[in-house]
Amino acid sequence: MTILDGKKISNDIKDEITEQVKKMKAKGEKVPHLAAVIVGNDGASLTYVGSKVRACERVGFESTMVRMSNTTSEIELLDKIEELNQDDAIDGFIIQLPLPPQINTQKVLMAVDPNKDVDGFHPENFGKMALDMSTFIPATPFGILELLDRYGVETKGKHTVVIGRSHIVGRPMSILMGRKGFPGNSTVTLTHSHTKNITQITSQADIIISALGVPNFLKAEMVKDDAVIIDVGITRVPDESSPKGYVITGDVDFENVSKKASYITPVPGGVGPMTIAMLLKNTLLAREQRM
Ligand code: NAP
Repeated sequence: MTILDGKKISNDIKDEITEQVKKMKAKGEKVPHLAAVIVGNDGASLTYVGSKVRACERVGFESTMVRMSNTTSEIELLDKIEELNQDDAIDGFIIQLPLPPQINTQKVLMAVDPNKDVDGFHPENFGKMALDMSTFIPATPFGILELLDRYGVETKGKHTVVIGRSHIVGRPMSILMGRKGFPGNSTVTLTHSHTKNITQITSQADIIISALGVPNFLKAEMVKDDAVIIDVGITRVPDESSPKGYVITGDVDFENVSKKASYITPVPGGVGPMTIAMLLKNTLLAREQRM
């Protein structure tokens, strides 16, 4: 069994980006600048945005964090987005999700200039992805592709089962794994909360990508020998013995599933760090496209 080490690979990617930024600086070019908009005080969202800003510093990007109050109206957020769209200094920006209930998320994501949409959530970029065109691929699915690629995990002709159909992970992942090329050329089954007999489906899978957010959902008896297991789930499970009062838990019963798997991602240290690295990669791409 091989651990797909997202921490190591994401560090390799950050080192590669750092080198590219040094070359840009040496040529007197402007370095990439990422902005992150956060609305409200959600603890997990603040942690994620903080990690993204630190990652920018690590590779030599400029970054801007835009904090808006929990009572921000949809119009106020749309005005801020327009400001960022027009700001020539900003190469790419993200709107940290979830947004407070008074704001229509889809409307907000559609307001982002597709050329600065480094999360790849705008319908124009999502459509391009589905049509095999060059575009920003959403960071988490992009990170999973990169892990499979760097470890040389064969995907061609394999049966990939994706659990969860969210717009940011499951749905794009199901499209990407079925695309022509590598990683891709898989036969894909997309499952969700209405799927019947899910164990029957997962136990036929060569590759399982789990993104549902239910701790330890995927058990050893749901997995065939030598399957490749990608665990996207991140759930804070209360734990009084931990200093933070919670532990981060994935969707996969790692202890038992890892005994059967050929490759598996740990949680933490698997898909999570890859997501941030690929956001940086998309920001670099955004800068290059604007030159
Ligand atoms: P989400 O919007 O929370 O949706 C969950 C999906 O799982 C839905 O499609 C739902 O089906 C499906 N589902 C729920 N219960 C199920 C069941 N019993 N059997 C099969 N499918 C079931 O999804 P998300 O935003 O992609 O988040 C999923 C997990 O990934 C969360 O833990 C999140 O924190 C984590 N995540 C991690 C990263 C990372 O960087 N590692 C990035 C993003 C998300 P329906 O559509 O029918 O409701």
